[in-house]
Amino acid sequence: MDWRRQEVREPLERAHAHARDWLSTLGERPVPAQADVETIVAALGRELPDGPSPAEQVIDLLGREAGPGLVAMPSGRFFGFVIGGTHPAGLAADWLVSAWDQNSGMYGVTPTHSAVELITKAWLLDLLGLPAGADMGFVTGATMANFTCLAAARDAVLRQAGWDVATDGLSGAPRVRVVVGAERHDTVDLALRMLGLGAPEVVAADEEGRIRVDALRQVLDGASPGTPPRPTIVCLQAGNIHSGACDPMTEAIDLAHAAGAWVHVDGAFGLWAAASARTRHLVEGMAAADSWGTDAHKTLNVPYDCGIAIVADPAALHAAMGMHGDYLIADDQARDPLETVPELSRRGRVVPVWAVLRTLGRSGVADLVDRLCAHAQSFEQGIGGIDGCRVLNDVVFTQVTVGLDDGAPVKPVVERILADGSCWMTGSRWHGRDVVRISVCNWSTTEDDVAVAVAALRRAVDGG
Ligand SMILES: *Cc1c(COP(=O)(O)O)cnc(C)c1O
Repeated sequence: MDWRRQEVREPLERAHAHARDWLSTLGERPVPAQADVETIVAALGRELPDGPSPAEQVIDLLGREAGPGLVAMPSGRFFGFVIGGTHPAGLAADWLVSAWDQNSGMYGVTPTHSAVELITKAWLLDLLGLPAGADMGFVTGATMANFTCLAAARDAVLRQAGWDVATDGLSGAPRVRVVVGAERHDTVDLALRMLGLGAPEVVAADEEGRIRVDALRQVLDGASPGTPPRPTIVCLQAGNIHSGACDPMTEAIDLAHAAGAWVHVDGAFGLWAAASARTRHLVEGMAAADSWGTDAHKTLNVPYDCGIAIVADPAALHAAMGMHGDYLIADDQARDPLETVPELSRRGRVVPVWAVLRTLGRSGVADLVDRLCAHAQSFEQGIGGIDGCRVLNDVVFTQVTVGLDDGAPVKPVVERILADGSCWMTGSRWHGRDVVRISVCNWSTTEDDVAVAVAALRRAVDGG
């Protein structure tokens, strides 16, 4: 066959059918994958074919053979890591994004994308209670959101110290001091590494993993009086992956600002506490920070991948991420989306965000957050009735961390849960002990799903 004669319709219909099959099995199928990598390699075939095949046959091959190697991550019984589900509106909008295939970097070239971005930015700032003048970029995840915000931070604090990173680089620059809490997410360190900032200074955290304000004060007061403040960035966290706890925003931000620091908040999943009246108190005061990183593919449940980098001072974001090429078509009236992200070319990943927000509305977003929290509380209650384990954290948001009594080993319990297949939880270490970590992050999780998972945990603990 001639590769130039592919039809569009048939491959799309096959993909649609396979996608619906996959989604319809999520309620019943075992959550962990049922085949290993080797099996899937063998099923797909290693050989690059000598010539073309009809695209619909290839899609059928993929749809047929991929299944056993897929994890039911979008199911309501996946409680591992912090993994959001796929809200139907987000998934459907994501298909359109692929079909439209817009390179979304330039404002005037792709009006629909720019319009959706414009609308969504305002909605997000409103829902998250952030300053209306802030700008944001849509990146691949919170790692890159942290990277993007911290790039703006690095350049801004060095500019204040009379150093222009864009021209002079980092060699010979004043050393930027970065202060983080002991339980910041590892991706903050990764972002700092990529930015040439090295390892951060670590401040002690309390029993829920929140940065300790007294310890932060000590570190920030450490500078000798009379010397000008060093370029400093303080990284706070909204949503600890073990406890869900948020750093004390008001006090920490006041302290950091008094020391002349830029304050960044990593709120990959926890920033969304601001969207519900029930949880808003957890992040009270965070609007005073200078930048915020979050994910749309966690709490908001858009499909992978979508993170959001938000910076209060748009000029700082554009200065760090902007680029200019003679061949690019810059808009005189408006900022180009490419000035808010590290990439030039990228998909229109704001569109699924718009679709989910437009579908849920203000109260629907609050309900989503409240429902995740309510399920986390049901977990806490259910686990309270299991002999041999207990919840270690104060369940204030969507995370539940479970310890076993008498130093019983956790690994076999997690293995039994995965072998059981009815749900997924992950093992971790917290405060020097092995734990089971439960993250409720899926819009479709029901109280039945929670009951099934609690029963699986009970069997796994009893089975020892
Ligand atoms: C998940 C997470 C990240 C990293 O986000 P990605 O979307 O995986 O890049 C960073 N910080 C926190 C607190 C997280 O939960």
